[in-house]
Amino acid sequence: RSGYCSRNGVYYSMMVPGYMPPPNQAIGIAEFLFAPKRGDAVAFVDGRTGRKLTFGELEEAVRVVAAGLWQRIGIRKSDVVCILSSNSVEFQVLFLAIASLGGILTTMNPLNTEADLKKQIKLAGAKCIFTIPEFLAKAQATGLPVALIEGDAPSSEENKPFLHYSDLLLGDLKNVQRVQVSQDDPAAILFSSGTTGESKGVVLTHRNLIAMCGVLSSPRVVRGLNERVLQLIPMFHVFGLMLGVGNLACGSMVVVLPRFDFIEMLSTIQKYKITVFPLVPPILLMMIKQDVVRKYDMTSLLRINCGAAPLLKEQLDQCAIRFPNAKFAQGYGLTESCAIGSVTPADGAEFADHFGSAGMIAPGLEAMVVDTLTNKPVPPTQQGEIWLRGPVIMKEYLGNPKATTETIDKDGWLHTGDLGYLDNDGYLYIVDRLKELIKYKANQVAPAELESILLGHPGVADCAVIPFPDDEAGEIPMAYIVREPGGALTAGEVMKYVAEQVAPYKKIRKVAFIDAIPKSAAGKTERRKLVELSRLRSRL
Ligand code: AMP
Repeated sequence: RSGYCSRNGVYYSMMVPGYMPPPNQAIGIAEFLFAPKRGDAVAFVDGRTGRKLTFGELEEAVRVVAAGLWQRIGIRKSDVVCILSSNSVEFQVLFLAIASLGGILTTMNPLNTEADLKKQIKLAGAKCIFTIPEFLAKAQATGLPVALIEGDAPSSEENKPFLHYSDLLLGDLKNVQRVQVSQDDPAAILFSSGTTGESKGVVLTHRNLIAMCGVLSSPRVVRGLNERVLQLIPMFHVFGLMLGVGNLACGSMVVVLPRFDFIEMLSTIQKYKITVFPLVPPILLMMIKQDVVRKYDMTSLLRINCGAAPLLKEQLDQCAIRFPNAKFAQGYGLTESCAIGSVTPADGAEFADHFGSAGMIAPGLEAMVVDTLTNKPVPPTQQGEIWLRGPVIMKEYLGNPKATTETIDKDGWLHTGDLGYLDNDGYLYIVDRLKELIKYKANQVAPAELESILLGHPGVADCAVIPFPDDEAGEIPMAYIVREPGGALTAGEVMKYVAEQVAPYKKIRKVAFIDAIPKSAAGKTERRKLVELSRLRSRL
């Protein structure tokens, strides 16, 4: 297959030659995106209001907002700005404006608790926070200066944000110094628990983002440029943030919806004749299950891109029946790799021919499947841990060199913590997760965080949290609990105790009691044993 090779157990797919600027060229993501002049072509559409922004207007908006950030908030190179918001065109403008100043964006999941947000803000070192009225109270609880992206500011003096997005539009372009951005400068700090422990700040550089754009606009990945893409995936998540930027690189028109509303989503696909729909499995499940879908014209859909979690065979078969014009593509990636890893090739065989695969190694990346004990590459069809290397791999975990070196080895390989194999045609299959991470409806849940909460309960002597398979959510967090001697703690009490302290998607949804948590000789929880035990019991 053209451009796809393997040598000594390392699989790689060549980047389209000449696409990436040389690493030492001083260019940031914003400059890179606006280098091709696309003028009057539409870049973004607000799916609710119908307001359009052409590429030319977007570039201008980014320059003006950057000037506003510089003058009104004093954002300078390396300053971190947080956005706590649902999707909007302004979100993208802000991101590129921050990046053009050499500033760094950090995003938060609005479902997170105030305590989570405070922790992330502190770790990222954010200087201010942009939000929308719905999350104003949460944003204010972080103690940071709060700016409002949209809507009217509350009238009470104490709740007043210090600035409104529209104030930034008054930015004076003459008073901004030109900032030199190098590709190695950080552009975003996103959060992921990685292979172990609690949430960490993933530092993505301008080069990472430029490389991600190179991948997403490669002919091996996209059907064609200038698509009409529906952006529903949250921009606070790596998948959504990268889609917004990557689609700009493709010259596509992106229709942005602020949040998931099933009927609105269907009517938007119909209205804008959406051709490409990136989504996550829970949405795909609704698309294939709900009859109301038949009332809308879905024939414009030519590609459905599903990422972030695996799918079942019957779900795909149903998808093919319901959306006969759409080619189905699966993708695999991590926050640590700008959501890039593998993808169903646009020019490759039909997805059904490689059912269950997450596609082929993305252009510009190298992949190895290694034996989990020896760390030596294994031959095709044999399972092992997936390692990735290439320009999309994060720089580091912020302020955590130990976690960084445990995840990226000295040769630059990112140890993904995912178990999988490559078939003889070079298609990658994700089989299981070696790492602790749980994904509930594509949201990350870190077992270590739930375990530390559980250990705070006086009735819990020991515990371990693992993923348990679930048709609708993909996985749910399940807790194995060792009761304190003589205790009578119930499953309901355990679930309630945790639910009161965490974001809704992190709730414990299944509990089992056990005499002892299996531990290794070094005292580490042997989660795999519990995962196997839970699967065995569920089959009985
Ligand atoms: P996140 O950093 O939140 O994007 O989560 C990354 C993790 O999601 C990966 O390490 C995998 O465990 C999982 N994941 C992503 N894409 C897929 C996929 N297509 N199939 C199975 N698991 C996936």
